[in-house]
Amino acid sequence: MERTVLHCDCNAFFASVEATRYPKLKKQPFAVCGDPKLRHGIVLAKNEKAKRLGVQTGEAIWQAKAKCPDLVLVEPSYGIYDEFSERIFNIYCRYTDLVEPFGIDECWLDVTGTKSLFGSGEKIADELRKIVKSETGITISAGVSFNKYFAKMGSDYKKPDATTVLTRNNYKDILFPLSVENMLFVGKSTLEKLSDIGIYTIGDLANADAKLLSLTLGKCGQMLYNCANGLDFSVVTPSTYKHKYKSIGNGYTFKRDLVSDTDLKTGIYMICDKVAHRLRKQKLECKTVQLCIKDTHFHAIQRQKTLQNPTQSSYELANSALELAINNWNVNDKPIRSMSVTGQNLIERSNEPEQLSLFYTDSFIFKRKKVILESTKDEICEKYGNNVLRMCSLIDNDLGL
Ligand SMILES: [Mg+2]
Repeated sequence: MERTVLHCDCNAFFASVEATRYPKLKKQPFAVCGDPKLRHGIVLAKNEKAKRLGVQTGEAIWQAKAKCPDLVLVEPSYGIYDEFSERIFNIYCRYTDLVEPFGIDECWLDVTGTKSLFGSGEKIADELRKIVKSETGITISAGVSFNKYFAKMGSDYKKPDATTVLTRNNYKDILFPLSVENMLFVGKSTLEKLSDIGIYTIGDLANADAKLLSLTLGKCGQMLYNCANGLDFSVVTPSTYKHKYKSIGNGYTFKRDLVSDTDLKTGIYMICDKVAHRLRKQKLECKTVQLCIKDTHFHAIQRQKTLQNPTQSSYELANSALELAINNWNVNDKPIRSMSVTGQNLIERSNEPEQLSLFYTDSFIFKRKKVILESTKDEICEKYGNNVLRMCSLIDNDLGL
């Protein structure tokens, strides 16, 4: 049976998420940027207004500012992007269990087996666009085709908020006039090599001699030839929602500066609880904890520590982060404006039973109890919402937590 594959791509994902969180942003050109103070000052995503003024993803902040002096810069909140990504992934899962994530904001869906329930690929794509928009505020572009590669080309073809269907009858008309640089896997050097042999459009590529392509591009030549001719037979590999996380971190800019050890402790415990909760949710543990502190003058330090044992415990993570903070920063002298904690060096938590200590020391029993307490807290929050249980130190705090 002919397959029906969808590729769904969130439009300007980071920027769209920020615009839903802060609707005022919609009125002005803005860009989500890596933090210039940490020397990651590039544009990660921009809204439509900034795009129209020439702002490009990947360029330095100063370049973007030169084109658009009023550009509003927004710091990325990766934790929130993960949450949106997961919510959208779960919406896709209502239509098929064959959903394969590709990066944080794209997924392939194989709906071949569920079309009889939900209607044609195009109908499902249109419905998904509506539902994702109404439930999350994010628009997606969808491609529908008989293979993954064309589905992806389809979602790229028209954005934002559009569906493109590439069938065996129309794909030549739609794709062949396009420049080969629109093809996934065609980078700058491939593009040059192709133009050297007179190949400029996808049509040129599809009609080229496959042997010549292999000679020019090696293995990649045959692969691109196949892709251009709709000969992609790769399957949508379902996966439970799991990124290849490199790190998991959360940051917070406090409502007022932290000025005492108690403030510092409260801030760190709150942030670490979030980070550890996300680690537990992804069944990951971190071997390294990194702390970043910024003062009121945007002076920042970044320190890390390797843990004795990998952990996903809020309590253990917080203790390590607090130790880093106390050893490297005097909060009584230098007020803290914002802070972030990141779990790095992640490993999957094994399902094997934990090796229990031969000696049940008090500290061992205490740790076990903490683990049970935290996983019970996760279950309760999962069921009744995140705010039903809070740490005592967070009650009535004036830090905005
Ligand atoms: Mg995208």
